[in-house]
Amino acid sequence: MRYTLKDMQAQFTDDDACLQYLFDARYGGMKACPHCGIVSPKYYRVKQRMSFVCKECRHQIYPLAGTIFEKSTTPLTDWFHALYLFSVSKNGVSAKEIERQVRVSYKTAHRMAKMIRILMNESGKLGFLGTPIEVDEAYIGGKSKQSKKGDNKTPVLAALEVGGHVRTAVVPKANSDTAVPFLESNVRPGSMLHTDESKIYKHLRVRVVFEHESVRHIAKEFVKNGVTTNHVEGFFGQLKRSVNGTYHSVSPYWLHSYVSEFAFRYNHRHQNVFSLLLAKAAPRA
Ligand SMILES: [Zn+2]
Repeated sequence: MRYTLKDMQAQFTDDDACLQYLFDARYGGMKACPHCGIVSPKYYRVKQRMSFVCKECRHQIYPLAGTIFEKSTTPLTDWFHALYLFSVSKNGVSAKEIERQVRVSYKTAHRMAKMIRILMNESGKLGFLGTPIEVDEAYIGGKSKQSKKGDNKTPVLAALEVGGHVRTAVVPKANSDTAVPFLESNVRPGSMLHTDESKIYKHLRVRVVFEHESVRHIAKEFVKNGVTTNHVEGFFGQLKRSVNGTYHSVSPYWLHSYVSEFAFRYNHRHQNVFSLLLAKAAPRA
């Protein structure tokens, strides 16, 4: 059954409930007190403080230390609400929407969104993709207010394991100088790559010993002996629609965090994203 906003608010009725959850997630089931060493220590909540204290030695633990909640004066229930919005959204969450739904100032909403997107950035923390892998590039973004010259679309590379995970990189230019290191860090040598006929991928075989087959899009040849780039194009299609619909114009500076937010959503599409985000926000200490 779907975990609704009401379910979340019933589970996390107030800041005490949120804090208890974060304490349990980070320190629950401690074998010994880190201070006095007593086995199976009993820690109690300290009233009027965001901390828990050891019954034996009075040592205090602050479960928010080192988390995105630490230096914030925003109630934890508002943070949980914003995390929930990110977990159920398909197209991303704008600061405006957080402002409206959570009822915080725009400035607070903007800061929360920024911190939550950092949790969703997994680049460099994931292993190699499985084969076959579809590789493609897209130009994302739009006209910037500053540049009268026209668009400032930014190239993004993606490698997608069919039925599995995706890896992305925002690059200054889409060419083989950026594509090769991107693929080397995400794709095991010897993997089968499916691309279109772009010259970016022409010399891959020589340079990085990837097996490589391409589809000629110009000739309307979208599927050739099972070689397609339809999945990675679908990923980019969704990303473009979302950037245009939710974030309107995104500057190249911010694009990186939106793209990794999308990759995160794609990679965890079969999971409970809310509890995953909470687990990332409150890692085991
Ligand atoms: Zn103790």
